[in-house]
Amino acid sequence: MSDLTGMLAGLRAFAIPMPVKFRGITVREGALIQGPAGWGEFSPFAEYGPQESARWLASAIESATAGWPAPVRDRIPVNATVPAVGPQQAAAIVARSGCRTAKVKVAERGQAEAEDIERVEAVREALGPGGRIRVDANGGWEPGQAVRMLRQLARFGLEYAEQPCATLEELAEVRRHTGIPVAADESIRRAEDPLRVRAAGAADIVMVKVQPLGGVRAALAVAEACGLPAVVSSAVDTSVGLAAGVALAAALPDLPYACGLGTMPLLAGDVTASPLAPARGELPVRRPAVDLDELARWETDPAPWRERAAAAARFLGAAS
Ligand SMILES: [Mg+2]
Repeated sequence: MSDLTGMLAGLRAFAIPMPVKFRGITVREGALIQGPAGWGEFSPFAEYGPQESARWLASAIESATAGWPAPVRDRIPVNATVPAVGPQQAAAIVARSGCRTAKVKVAERGQAEAEDIERVEAVREALGPGGRIRVDANGGWEPGQAVRMLRQLARFGLEYAEQPCATLEELAEVRRHTGIPVAADESIRRAEDPLRVRAAGAADIVMVKVQPLGGVRAALAVAEACGLPAVVSSAVDTSVGLAAGVALAAALPDLPYACGLGTMPLLAGDVTASPLAPARGELPVRRPAVDLDELARWETDPAPWRERAAAAARFLGAAS
């Protein structure tokens, strides 16, 4: 605990603008702590209280004090992310990304179903027949609508459908009525959630994120206990947090799908001089060092983040 006190005393806070609004935010805020093993990122979203934030803190502490398990691969394939844009822009995003896998946002509030279909069709044309397409509804469809839409989209060839509906029961229903694999994302926020997903027969694939699950080792244990293929994604982290996601993806025994770790372009800047940005659809397995000059460009008052971390620390060990 005295180690933690020292790390929190040296905590640095950042606020990095986001060129495109994502998850309702236009600035990514968070904190970095430094320990004997390096830097760790603590960036729970603003709505998370101390108890939930404790897992995010545990992840930062693991990065700073223990490092990560040995990798079993040295490159991580990542997907391009296509927001709810028009077909031409969707095709341009995919072409520019260099990725062979695209995640396409569907079920955007206020948009027509035809817009989803046009967007996915444009992405298929841009990728060619060998590329992979997954759609992400962020829980936005009712089960009947999900089944109908997935049957229509199936002609473009779908790798899987991410969180087509909100609840586990609904996901299970969609799974029973389409031949398209279902991935659970929003349904997984705590260590016990993947086991619930599996027990409910709600998904074929689980999305795992390092910070919300409490660190690389905790996330590895969750993936193993769950027994379903895992896709690692980021929480729109800086390269410090992304490096932990890359370490998880690198340590998983099997990695059958491209990961959602190519999120660096969502931020206007980074805290390192060599960001973990994808090239040719891949990320190298490496851990960039924090560059204090880069950090200084985005640095903010650490006091509120020190308080948040100290509040979260009271739930360390109790949280899972
Ligand atoms: Mg998702």
